[in-house]
Amino acid sequence: MVQEVCVSPLLTEMHQRIERACAFLAVEPYLCSLLKSCQRELIVSFPVKMDSGDIQVFQGYRVHHNIIRGPAKGGIRYHPEVNLDEIQALAMLMTLKCAVVNIPFGGAKGGVVCDPHQLSPRELENLTRRFATEISILLGPETDIPAPDVNTDAQVMSWFMDTYSMHKGYSVLSVVTGKPLIIGGSQGRQEATGRGVAYLTYFITQEMKLPLRGARVVVQGFGKVGYPAAKILQEEYGCKIIAVADLGGGVVNEEGLEVRALREHVEKEKTVAHFSQGETIPREAIFDIPSDIFIPAALENQIDEETAQRLHCKLVVEGANGPTTEEGDRVLQEKGITLVPDILANAGGVVVSYFEWVQGLQSFFWNEEEVNLRLKLIMSNSFKQCFSLARHHDLSLREAAYLVAIERIGEAIKVRGIYP
Ligand code: GLU
Repeated sequence: MVQEVCVSPLLTEMHQRIERACAFLAVEPYLCSLLKSCQRELIVSFPVKMDSGDIQVFQGYRVHHNIIRGPAKGGIRYHPEVNLDEIQALAMLMTLKCAVVNIPFGGAKGGVVCDPHQLSPRELENLTRRFATEISILLGPETDIPAPDVNTDAQVMSWFMDTYSMHKGYSVLSVVTGKPLIIGGSQGRQEATGRGVAYLTYFITQEMKLPLRGARVVVQGFGKVGYPAAKILQEEYGCKIIAVADLGGGVVNEEGLEVRALREHVEKEKTVAHFSQGETIPREAIFDIPSDIFIPAALENQIDEETAQRLHCKLVVEGANGPTTEEGDRVLQEKGITLVPDILANAGGVVVSYFEWVQGLQSFFWNEEEVNLRLKLIMSNSFKQCFSLARHHDLSLREAAYLVAIERIGEAIKVRGIYP
């Protein structure tokens, strides 16, 4: 599958957000240009043997946005709409995300244009191993460390790690993160993004004096981020998860949905729709359910001008990358809805990826309690920093997070100097 049209509104918006932050910080113009471009972009086309005996050609990308603060870090997604602009924008988000939470990585993203739901397990493995080989000129624990993203998981990372290790002739644990525990994965990594979203929800609601016990939460997306976020908010913070939507539809129950039971339903039915504990709604209707907290945990560009108008909530916590457009941001602000931005709210995943990388390099592994404690500490410090900056300068949390990140990257560039 080869993607021909390449237009991502997210990239344009990233440019605008970076420009505004750079203007506020009055950084030298070259820094702004540097941050708006990507350092390296690899486009690959490669053949894959299908079960039918046919050979199909796929297109994929791996982009390094900026590696000044450390190796390029970021997920790999499999989706029919993957395109270079989107991958560039997502790589930029990764650089900023790693800088906000102050972990020593640069930003990367990768993707293959494909519909993984149409591929058999063998085809998925063939595609993954060949893609890993095609981008292997970039990969390595000191250079570029992939992780799961949309439609990729621990199994895909396992094939990545195995392919890379086969070429090397020995096992290289830290070439990917988000891999299974048995081959050097980290405790807590699978739920880390959702756990981070839950922590940030807790920190911000403390400031807003919004009690989490009994708070009504609506979640868009019930995958790697939405499910653990909903589960932890329900089980550890006493929230009521009143509506959830995914690609197949939505389900609502004002009394609250039992998240683990909903997950069991999804394992069988592949969608939250028709869950017996609630009423089924079309997936777009998720924006019309009044709540206290709305968590977009699906794809980008979901909260735009129109859907933001429909949202009735006090708080949005961005579990997905880039779920709110510039217009969406403006409408939410006009409506007085607080927003915790993606680069802060969903950084839990890459923070535990960092822990996984460190554990793999040292071959010394931590227990789940230790992982979660360290995660909470990093998320709490990062939140406090962004929150106090936002308060001090009367900025949105997104603007504050961009300032924290860009200031850190700028300082790193300055102190390293321009080569030669
Ligand atoms: N794909 C996740 C993200 O967007 C995780 C990236 C990583 O752990 O490297 O943050």
